[in-house]
Amino acid sequence: MDEEAARQARQRVRLQQLGVTCYRPRPAAVAAPVRRPVPAEAAQASGEAEPPPEPVLEPVVQPQGGPASAPDQGQSPGTEQPPAPARAPVESGLDGLDWDALEARVADCRLCGLCEGRTRTVFGVGDRQADLVLVGEGPGVEEDRRGEPFVGQAGQLLDRMLAAIGLDRHHGVYICNVVKCRPPRNRDPKADEAAACQPYLQRQLSLLQPRLIVALGRVPAHHLLGVTTPLGRLRGQLHRYAPVDVPLLATYHPAYLLRNPADKARAWADLKYIRRILAE
Ligand code: SF4
Repeated sequence: MDEEAARQARQRVRLQQLGVTCYRPRPAAVAAPVRRPVPAEAAQASGEAEPPPEPVLEPVVQPQGGPASAPDQGQSPGTEQPPAPARAPVESGLDGLDWDALEARVADCRLCGLCEGRTRTVFGVGDRQADLVLVGEGPGVEEDRRGEPFVGQAGQLLDRMLAAIGLDRHHGVYICNVVKCRPPRNRDPKADEAAACQPYLQRQLSLLQPRLIVALGRVPAHHLLGVTTPLGRLRGQLHRYAPVDVPLLATYHPAYLLRNPADKARAWADLKYIRRILAE
């Protein structure tokens, strides 16, 4: 009997979704009390609380609110992103700092746990008058050793990508990361680490006043935009980095392209888009 009632209810919902109004007889005088919860969707669609729903056979996993919980294109070879803690200690009073003072402040920073494992901080490299800023997620082993972002194989690919649009890492572009210290085992920066480091990046961007920010990969795109949208859906359109009100484009991380060369064609399309924006 329950099964039949459930079937009729599903049919009514389908008909209502198609815009068909159907007559429904009043329930029997003695209706069985509803003991199980009614799914919100079915209740909304039908405007009623009966019949009882079919049991849910598999657990439903809700995504975490923090960035980067789902695997996606453009990620570096790190591990999964832990849930975001609510608060993190952050640096303040950076507004008046010039480049040298800011770099010195970063070098001494111990605001988050990443300071424990670093060899040195990786502040950023490039042209401080640049129109274009590239933002990665964090230093890897080689970057930590040399104190410069995007060195090693991924860095070499990035250099070739920049050369393809007439730039190099010392002219016309500035390169930095969301976090200035190396996350252990090349994992993604956690939300509290990114939050602790964010004022440094923001001050760098305020000093630079670029015309365009390019997020290299899922992690910086999510941190800068405050979204968890897959990178594939963020690519190809201009966003805005609100704290300094600068247009932002998201594209693949070079490390991802090394592992997925088939996507280099898409990365090339992004590069052409960048070139077009800078030429305007
Ligand atoms: S990652 Fe950033 S906030 Fe954390 S210790 Fe390094 S410089 Fe400080």
